[in-house]
Amino acid sequence: MPHDVLVAGETLIDFVPERAGSLEEVPGFERRPGGAPANVAVALARLAEPPLFWTRVGADPFGRYLERTLVDHGLPDQFVERDSGAKTTLAFVTHDETGEREFTFYRDGTADTRLEPGRVDDATLSDCEWVHAGGVTLSSGSAREATLDLLERAAAADCTVSFDPNLRSELWPDEGAFASVVGDALAYVDVCLATGTELAALGFDGDSPTAIARAAVERGPVHTAVVTRGAAGAVAVASADAPWPAATVEGPGFAVDVVDTTGAGDAFVAGAVAALRDGDDLEAAVAFANAVGARATTAAGGMTALPTRAEVAALLEAE
Ligand code: ADP
Repeated sequence: MPHDVLVAGETLIDFVPERAGSLEEVPGFERRPGGAPANVAVALARLAEPPLFWTRVGADPFGRYLERTLVDHGLPDQFVERDSGAKTTLAFVTHDETGEREFTFYRDGTADTRLEPGRVDDATLSDCEWVHAGGVTLSSGSAREATLDLLERAAAADCTVSFDPNLRSELWPDEGAFASVVGDALAYVDVCLATGTELAALGFDGDSPTAIARAAVERGPVHTAVVTRGAAGAVAVASADAPWPAATVEGPGFAVDVVDTTGAGDAFVAGAVAALRDGDDLEAAVAFANAVGARATTAAGGMTALPTRAEVAALLEAE
């Protein structure tokens, strides 16, 4: 099977609380595989497009569990690194009474912060059509340089480069640091998929999600900006520089029985990448991605309710 998409970034353990409340109060947590890029990679595999996945886990039981999970989902292990000198990242999730999520990371010097530049060689990149990465590995350690190096070489190899800023304020000293480092990364990005809050933190202003997306595209070199809006769906703007027709799209969300929105954004990214790479126009890609994102909310966990192509088609036809 050709792996002409490469996804890069963290794989970690999310400890999901059994009920709302602060870390001091919640007595129990469930271990779940996570990390935004890992969720994207698994979602692509579920859509029958398993990508290459470059990640790094610790040589500990959690790392072995994550490696097994990735393989069980059909991902190749060629670029799955095991770091004998570091532990696997842990993230404890809490929910407040309104369902808003917060993260407490155990990520000092952990394996995914220790990705090193150059592990994915130029020959691999020249065989790839599309490379996707996210903002978490830009936050610290050698993984920052490794991620920037990957994006730079992917752009030089004429890959379509997509990026999700994935702002986790707990991982950055302040919003200025996030804006500065992610701003450097955007110099190599073609397709930026983000929430309105993330794009605002990056300095893109506008009085509507569409205006914010347009601001991102106007600055360039990003030619396509997609803003996800939870249950309301997503908007997207593509400029004349895009390989697909220039367009402004406002795609409504799909009505589903929501159980847990963890990983919905990652599922959406996978849907958008799969659809655009398959040659869909922006409107069809946003509809496809909204359907993948909606389906992902129907069970707990970021990798649990990811749909197959047939399931996405059924949801699109039911509308
Ligand atoms: P993130 O998970 O990154 O915070 P969003 O909450 O905007 O991002 O969700 C990403 C996408 O997932 C949305 O654009 C939409 O397609 C889908 N989605 C999220 N929440 C819901 C929901 N409650 N109902 C239907 N679709 C949803």
